[in-house]
Amino acid sequence: MGIVVQKFGGTSVANAERLMNVARIVTDKYKEGNSMVVVVSAQGDTTDDLIDKAMEINERPSKREMDMLLSTGEQISISLLAMAIDKLGFPVISLTGWQAGFLTNSAHGQARIRNVHKERIEKELDQRKIVIVAGFQGLNRYDDITTLGRGGSDTSAVALAAILRADLCQIYTDVDGVYTADPRKVPGARKLKEITFDEMLELATLGAQVLNNRSVEMAKKYNVNLEVLSSLEKKPGTVVKEVAKVEKMLVKGVAKDCNVARISVMGVPDTPGVAYKIFASLSAKNIDVDIILQSIGRENTKDISFTVNSNNKDAALEVCEVFKDTMGAMAVLCDDNVAKVSVVGAGMQSHPGVAATMFGALADSNINIRMISTSEIKISVLIDKTKADQAVRVIHDAFIH
Ligand code: ADP
Ligand code: ASP
Ligand code: MG
Repeated sequence: MGIVVQKFGGTSVANAERLMNVARIVTDKYKEGNSMVVVVSAQGDTTDDLIDKAMEINERPSKREMDMLLSTGEQISISLLAMAIDKLGFPVISLTGWQAGFLTNSAHGQARIRNVHKERIEKELDQRKIVIVAGFQGLNRYDDITTLGRGGSDTSAVALAAILRADLCQIYTDVDGVYTADPRKVPGARKLKEITFDEMLELATLGAQVLNNRSVEMAKKYNVNLEVLSSLEKKPGTVVKEVAKVEKMLVKGVAKDCNVARISVMGVPDTPGVAYKIFASLSAKNIDVDIILQSIGRENTKDISFTVNSNNKDAALEVCEVFKDTMGAMAVLCDDNVAKVSVVGAGMQSHPGVAATMFGALADSNINIRMISTSEIKISVLIDKTKADQAVRVIHDAFIH
């Protein structure tokens, strides 16, 4: 008996039948005597459909109005789930993000949670109500609606689990756990019984959307008891924790990220401070840069290439064009026909064979590597987007049998 936070993603609440299924999962846990807080996402493809609707009207809509629009998806789900639970005869109340006390900063479209005022939720729990909360949304200090970025309902759930000191946070989704690669793309992918926060954070950041990376970051910080499992099949999922049982696997997973653009500034002067100028200007615009490559100087010039998230492509190009004009570079090129494929596993830096195996698998499939970056826990390569799924499969097969 304790406090349990459950989160259900879009597929899990997609229609009336699925909502009744969720209502049964929630009320079964409630019947065990637990206090239940349930976070839901928008139904099915609702968020994508809302984005399409906005694009039909304005290709560069105001971020504030986008948040106003996108937050409606989750409001539909909370009310419908409350109706489903009520139909089963249990006390229930639905709350929007702001009613549930979610306060965020003002970064519309990717807001960060500043605080959660939990009084309202606690009041409802004291009355033994099942509390349904809209994920992905909050309010900034000007009382404007914000959203937390795609996949943000995971973060809403983990934040509630942390602030309520919940005994358990269960992320229900459309696969039955965290796999060594996306099980929809890689037939041989293996389900992991356990994974560490650090490995999961890396996998999520590198594109495994089964958990949002900010949710994992927060779960690690507050040591939330986190589990990923299926809403469609009743079986054990994956536990995400500080220390996982050591499986005899160096590589824990392979992930891909197709939302990447490579920008190259060609023919910049080969003098000290040039790289500083480009990257300081990018950072001043809050643009995160990922892989960076600088060519060897020739005839007093060099080329600098880097990758950014596709969302930041236009802003990064603007910065580089200004740099080109002021610093006298030759050209700015952009390629968004690329994808980043990564292998993740703790301690791989002390195993030189990992890079060799990964590059060998790509070579055997005639896939060209455009950029490489490594850290203690991952190796990433930039390749052609059209080869991304094949690359994930061959790399996965090379490491995980
Ligand atoms: P939800 O709507 O429940 O939040 P998401 O679509 O955001 O679900 O995330 C679940 C999806 O993540 C799965 O359907 C799967 O295709 C994908 N996925 C990518 N990488 C992995 C992985 N390593 N393990 C499990 N699922 C993964
Ligand atoms: N509905 C939002 C999205 O599709 C948030 C979420 O599902 O977590 O990204
Ligand atoms: Mg998700």
